[in-house]
Parts: sequence; C-alpha cells; structure tokens
Amino acid sequence: MKEELIQKLRDEFSELPAEARINIGDGWYEVVRSMLRNLRKCNAVHTVNSIEAKMGRLRTDLSEISADADAAMFFAEQESKLVCDVCGGGAVPNPPYRATRCAEHAAGSEHKKSQL
Ligand SMILES: [Zn+2]
Repeated sequence: MKEELIQKLRDEFSELPAEARINIGDGWYEVVRSMLRNLRKCNAVHTVNSIEAKMGRLRTDLSEISADADAAMFFAEQESKLVCDVCGGGAVPNPPYRATRCAEHAAGSEHKKSQL
C-alpha cells in the first residue's frame, strides 16, 4: 500500500502505530478502514501489529485478542476475498494461494510471493 494511504489510515486511527507492518495492496484501503472502525467498537483497545495479505486474504495481527475483535477481523478477512487488492473493484473467484484480483488485474499479472 502506498505511503500516502497508510498515512491517511494512521491519521484516522491512533491504534495503527508507525511501527505496525502494512503489506497489502491499495485496493483494500476501504476494507481495512471499515475493520479498524469495527475494532473501535470493541470493548478493549486494540493496537495493530501488522496488516498483511496471506493466501489472498487480509490477515491482521493485534497486540491482544478478544472475541469481539476476532469477529471484526474475521469479517474483514471474508470481505477481502471479494475485493481486488489493486483497485478495490469486485474480485473474481481466486484460486487458493493467489492474490485477490478483479478480472482486469488478474489477467497477465504475476503475483508477488510476498503477497501470498
Ligand atoms: Zn482490480
């Protein structure tokens, strides 16, 4: 994700410290944003350690876990399967272990190993 978008998230969410590792495509900006908003509704305050793409899905690591935070992360992970990680458009069903992409961005793109 480009630095400009990461900074926008950090400006909005203090739960996302500068040292948090963010390794996802720009297209998941809104998925992450809505997850962070949902995490705010949880009882405990959660600090994010990392947000990454693993096997084509959004994976979040929090400093501490609770049932309600777990639900917020699970929801975002499911949503990420429907959203192209490049442009934020609707994704086509992706084979396991591949990045989540729309038809346009899936075509001809080599998926970086770090995104899997
Ligand atoms: Zn796309």
